[in-house]
Amino acid sequence: MITWQSKDLSFEAPFMFLFIGNNKAILFDTGATNDMIRFPLRKTVDAILEKWLSKNKRENYELIVAHTHEHNDHTSGDTQFLHRANTKVIAKDLDSVGSFFGIQKGALGTGKCDLGGRVLIILPIPRHDPGSISI
Ligand SMILES: [Zn+2]
Repeated sequence: MITWQSKDLSFEAPFMFLFIGNNKAILFDTGATNDMIRFPLRKTVDAILEKWLSKNKRENYELIVAHTHEHNDHTSGDTQFLHRANTKVIAKDLDSVGSFFGIQKGALGTGKCDLGGRVLIILPIPRHDPGSISI
């Protein structure tokens, strides 16, 4: 799922990406605002996952919240997920990103994220921001 934050909320109009696997899901980026009323990202993600889980029964299905990079227009909505059950919000600093995805510090190698039947390859692209990744 790809969603987009309207320019009515932020001139940056950032995109967010939700990947669903057999064992867990991962959301990349949370947008430029933490306003749950004007931008109910958590509600949207929960509705998508509830619909998927109603067809694909799972116990303790985990949601990971990560970021393509640490700038505020990609991370401001993190607070919507901080107290969500079965949810891990990955800190946005370079070491946390590298550690979570298995990217060695200073390496040009790739990391990965196995969602169960769907493995995402994570590539460090440290230009726009030292912790930038592509998926
Ligand atoms: Zn940026």
